[in-house]
This record gives sequence, structure tokens and C-alpha cells, in this order.
Amino acid sequence: MNKLELIKEKLKNYDGEELRFMEVCGTHTAAISENGIPGMISPKIHLISGPGCPVCVTVTAVIDRLTELALTDNTTVLTFGDLLRVKGSKMSLADARANGGSVEMLYSPMDAVKMAKNNPDRNYVFAAIGFETTTPVYAMVLKEIISQDVHNLKLLTSLKTMPQVIRWVCKNTDNIDGFLAPGHVSVITGSDLFKELSEETGLPFVVAGFDGKGLLAAVYALCGMKGESGIKNVYKSAVTEKGNEEARKAVSEFFEPCDASWRGMGMIPGSGMRLKKEYSEYDAGSYGLDEDHMPPGCSCARVLTGEISPDECPLFGNKCTPEDAHGACMVSTEGSCYNYYISGRKKR
Ligand code: SF4
Repeated sequence: MNKLELIKEKLKNYDGEELRFMEVCGTHTAAISENGIPGMISPKIHLISGPGCPVCVTVTAVIDRLTELALTDNTTVLTFGDLLRVKGSKMSLADARANGGSVEMLYSPMDAVKMAKNNPDRNYVFAAIGFETTTPVYAMVLKEIISQDVHNLKLLTSLKTMPQVIRWVCKNTDNIDGFLAPGHVSVITGSDLFKELSEETGLPFVVAGFDGKGLLAAVYALCGMKGESGIKNVYKSAVTEKGNEEARKAVSEFFEPCDASWRGMGMIPGSGMRLKKEYSEYDAGSYGLDEDHMPPGCSCARVLTGEISPDECPLFGNKCTPEDAHGACMVSTEGSCYNYYISGRKKR
């Protein structure tokens, strides 16, 4: 029996105490469902989705500001696809577009600079949403805006960072036995970031990749580390201890840490990034966008913190489906409700 088969057998036949591991990365949430990982492991090992999908954790005040901008004369909002259908307190960007607003989907961030240059008389606002993984991309966009002397493109930022939200989860939940540390974030931050968090929380962290084999190896490693702090990196092909220092340097040139509001969790001190004061002319009004009005009946807040699984929300699969999503976690392809729905996954 090779090593992978041995891991599969041990995970399938695990019969010890119940274990709960949280992933805090939307791509992991999607990869776990796509690879059918829950069906390959013992029902005593529970994989819980945490606040790792950037679209899902964006508060309604940010969507409201974007829809307001989309409906402003001579202004176009540029966004990646997943944000389009997320409802604000009144409407989504898709609704704003249907009501005559201007919203364009981006396939590459640098297209934003091209569009602004090609249409100098129109104002553009780029919805800059994401975690440590995407903030360096926005730093590159800013560098281009400045070097190409573009004055009609601004960013509306809602940027989050991992450490403080993981601390928040650990403070507010006492039944997590370990974390699958986010692979893409770790490429930038380095695995050392989780060493510190592990020491603080007393929980194990395993840096995981995104294929089935890597995910199983990570879950298996977490089972072996139960009850201890420590970090393992089973994604060494992409993640080093120190991460990408150049990307972090580019980020720190334009952005600084700030408090940030998270859907379902409220304000978490030091959990976001915002444009530095000296670059405020490139900001489209990102400050103070903290309010959150979730759609009535939506349990995204409880899903995002791992308190309930998506199929425990009363609207799941009836009033809320990917075709007619009620909450953000069903809109995004990285959302836990969406992934539960399309994979037919159930709480076990
Ligand atoms: S099923 Fe829909 S309404 Fe319920 S928590 Fe998920 S996104 Fe929100």
C-alpha cells in the first residue's frame, strides 16, 4: 500500500474522538467539495468552513457604496464576477446595472488601467476586495496608475488580513481542534505567520495545497497533531517559511493596517488594509464602510463562523439556491453554502 492509500484508509476508518478542523480559505472550501473530501474521511472528522471567502465577508455598506457609484453619472464600477450578485442593503451591482448603472466585469486587474486610459473622460472605480493574496495585485495596479499618470481610476477597498480574524474565531469558539492554513495567503505571508498564531492559540496549523492528495495529507497531519500547537507545511512546492517579501514590500508602499468590519463578526481591530493617507486621491470613499444589513432570515453570520453548517440554515436549498441566492455565501463559488449545495454535501 502506498503512502496516499494508507492515509486514505486511516482517515476513512478513524474512530477516535470527534475532531473539528476549520479551513479559512474560499479556495479550500471549493476544493474540499470538488474533491469529495468529506466523503473520504470518517464522519468523526468534521471540516468546517470559516471566514475565508472574500466576497462572503464583505459587509453591505461596501456593496451599497459600489451600487451608488455605479448609478452615478459618467462612472463605471469594475469588478470580478462573484461580487456582482451579492445584495447590499438595497440592491446588488447586477440590480444597479439593470437600473441603468454602469458595471463592467474584469478578467484581469490590469484591464482596469487600460479601460481608464482608453476612456479618459469617464471615471472608473475598481472594487478592490480580498485577502493578503490579492492586495499585492492592487498595489501593482496602483503603481501602474501612478506611473502612467492615470487620473480617472480609483479603488474602493475592502481588504482583509488573516491573523486577527483567526484570533477572533479562536476567542469566540471553543470547539476547533486545528486549522487548515490558507495556501494562497501563505504564499505571500509565509508559513511563519501561522507559527505565531499556533503558539498563541495552542492549536495546530497545517498549510495545505488545493488538490485532493494535498488536502488529505493536511487533514491527516492535523489528526496527528490534535491537542498540540505546531505548524506543518504540506504545500512546500508553493509556500516557504518567509513567503514573498517582494509582494509584501509592494503592499506596504501603498497600504497600511486598519480596523475592518466583517460580515457576521463586526469590527475586528487590525484585521484590514487601507490606502495610506498619501494615496488617498486614489480612494473612491472606502473609509467608514462598516454597516452590515444581512438579508432577512439569512444565517451567513453563523455559517461564516462555523457555528452551523450551511444545510442547517432554514433557507438553504429552498428560498436560497445558486440561481436565486439570498445571501453572499450562496453567491460566491468560494462560499460554503454554494459548495454545500452544488456538491450535495450534508452535515454529518
Ligand atoms: S443558505 Fe443562503 S440564506 Fe442561508 S446562510 Fe447560506 S447564503 Fe445565507
